[in-house]
Amino acid sequence: MSSPAIITIDADYLRPKLAAIHLIIDNGRAAFVDTGTFRSVPIMLKALQDNGLTAADVDYVFLTHVHLDHAGGAGLLMQSLPNARCVLHPRGARHMIDPTKLSVASKDVYGAARFTQMYGELLPIAAERVVIVEDGQRLNLGRSEFEFIHTAGHANHHYCIVDHDARVIFSGDTFGLSYRELDTARGAFVMPITTPSQFDPPAAHASIDRLVGLKPQAIYVTHYSRVEGIEKLGADLHESLDGYVAIARRHAGKQHRTQSMVDELRAFIDARLDAHGVTRDAEFRHQLLDGDIRLNVQGLEVWLQQQGT
Ligand SMILES: [Zn+2]
Repeated sequence: MSSPAIITIDADYLRPKLAAIHLIIDNGRAAFVDTGTFRSVPIMLKALQDNGLTAADVDYVFLTHVHLDHAGGAGLLMQSLPNARCVLHPRGARHMIDPTKLSVASKDVYGAARFTQMYGELLPIAAERVVIVEDGQRLNLGRSEFEFIHTAGHANHHYCIVDHDARVIFSGDTFGLSYRELDTARGAFVMPITTPSQFDPPAAHASIDRLVGLKPQAIYVTHYSRVEGIEKLGADLHESLDGYVAIARRHAGKQHRTQSMVDELRAFIDARLDAHGVTRDAEFRHQLLDGDIRLNVQGLEVWLQQQGT
């Protein structure tokens, strides 16, 4: 039994401390959890060097899911890692082996010009370098063992990584986001992530319960890094999910609903920030959260459309 070292690397995605890549090191062997985009690749290689490792010491690239802020740089990164295998959910694997569909879907969300600017060109990963993990499957790194659990809700191809000995979980986007700028004496502020196109409220609630039920000491979220006090954060996420869904339902069947949903979601989050003791002003909150609010509304609208409303 051992606890691996966990190093947080800023992916340099859009702004500082928006997206974290985690480097796990155990007994000289290493794994990355998520990869950011192509821009993150030199940062990850430097992080290896800074920690006395070489590219050959990396056994795994764990991709919690194949959204591009998590997996966009994986194809390029794999070219620099001679011994690494890329670990994926059964529903995500084919999209990394042939990223064509993923590019098309992401261009729908972001627009073609912005897509290229943000994600460049997605490179395929050879099928023989991909490991598919079923729910409950385990893999070893050094002396540590990690369990992969399937956690739908944010995306159908999402898994979380559990280290039972160290009592930590890497949750990707399953346990929401938690920006460190919003920490207060009350602890971390969390909010769900409902980006297109597989948001599933009952599954999201169930996945949060599953993570909380494992009683981890800490969870590492991609946006951004380590949070503690998991039981309370789980309750916060359940409440917020209900709030998001209520806003969406109020707009069911309405036309030109996007701006109204953005306004309501912003007001909902603002009230929760106030209750959390966040004293930062509207401009700061706008800079920090507006991109997420818009993406979350997009996801809620796709969900409404899927319900036929
Ligand atoms: Zn994400």
